[in-house]
Amino acid sequence: MSEKVFFSYDEIHQLVADSSHQIQKLDLDCMIAIGGGGFIPGRMLRSYTKLPLYSVSMKLYGEDDEIHQEEPVVFQWIDEHAEKEVRGKNILIVDEVDDTRLTLDHCVRRIREFEPKSITVYVIHSKDKEKRGTLGEDVKLVVGQYIKDVWINYPWESKDIQNHTIIAREQSETGVKEKYVLN
Ligand code: 5GP
Repeated sequence: MSEKVFFSYDEIHQLVADSSHQIQKLDLDCMIAIGGGGFIPGRMLRSYTKLPLYSVSMKLYGEDDEIHQEEPVVFQWIDEHAEKEVRGKNILIVDEVDDTRLTLDHCVRRIREFEPKSITVYVIHSKDKEKRGTLGEDVKLVVGQYIKDVWINYPWESKDIQNHTIIAREQSETGVKEKYVLN
């Protein structure tokens, strides 16, 4: 995974906007964004769906990190107030990228404790690779864009957003993204 693919805020917003048409057709009551990466797409999606947005935070330590976890570490979870709003509802879980799927797997399993009527997962990107986690057959997955197994640089991670945006635009114009994006 040497090359990295850069996405600008505009491109991400457009992908979320495109996905919102499909999401608006679903019977949903609320969204739960997985932070950090799911917060911004969750907020973008709220502009289109008007669904209440709740948040959780978890991190899967990478294989290169000192501590390797098979399960993500949960930093923040649904509190008592939010639980009343999400219990028994049609829930949309939002994250930025489905890579190994271990984060989504863990989040879906925990959200099942709220006995939801249905669970849908939305991710901006899903990498075309063998997944280590599973979602369960009853979970509907909505994906903005399928992408090859390449590292994605999102704008909210950038420390130089102007340069990031220039690279994202260049990668679109020179066909770099076309090599990786599958739909
Ligand atoms: P998972 O492997 O559990 O599907 O993904 C765990 C988390 O790793 C994601 O929510 C995301 O924060 C991060 N991640 C995985 N692949 C990428 C990537 O290509 N780019 C970025 N920026 N983060 C990624």
